[in-house]
Amino acid sequence: MKITDNKVVVLHYAVSDSEDTLIDSSYDHSPLAVIQGSHYLIPGLEAALIGHQAGDKFDVAVSADDAYGQREDGFVQSVPKAMFAGIEDLEVGSQLRATTDDGEQTVIVIDVNDDEITVDGNHPLAGIDLKFDVEILEVRDATEEELAHGHVHGEGGCGHNHD
Ligand SMILES: [Zn+2]
Repeated sequence: MKITDNKVVVLHYAVSDSEDTLIDSSYDHSPLAVIQGSHYLIPGLEAALIGHQAGDKFDVAVSADDAYGQREDGFVQSVPKAMFAGIEDLEVGSQLRATTDDGEQTVIVIDVNDDEITVDGNHPLAGIDLKFDVEILEVRDATEEELAHGHVHGEGGCGHNHD
């Protein structure tokens, strides 16, 4: 069975940057199960799966534009430290949830001084060209319930709370 939209694809992947530094890998834990066409994966990777089948192993180069996009200087903001009163252990590298015009997003603290904290709302992988090592483990039709929910169900059905 070849991968087309609305197939469930179970895959292993390892992703590295253009200098072959490993960023993340599923090989040392559970494989990823996704519905093809649901845009769960970054666009460049999802497009590369089309036509493959179980047992295929291949490399995919994904430019930043087809991955997490380019870095936006406007996503870096300095805010008064007082806004973070009550949050302890704020230091460079801390991740925070922030409410923005685009909804909730994760920002990373990149600088702290006496008065201000500078946060970066760019995705950590923004601006980075990626390389994926992909192994397709399984391809099957998604069930109607999976398509309605937009995610893959394991044995025992839906483990999500849909309230
Ligand atoms: Zn579900």
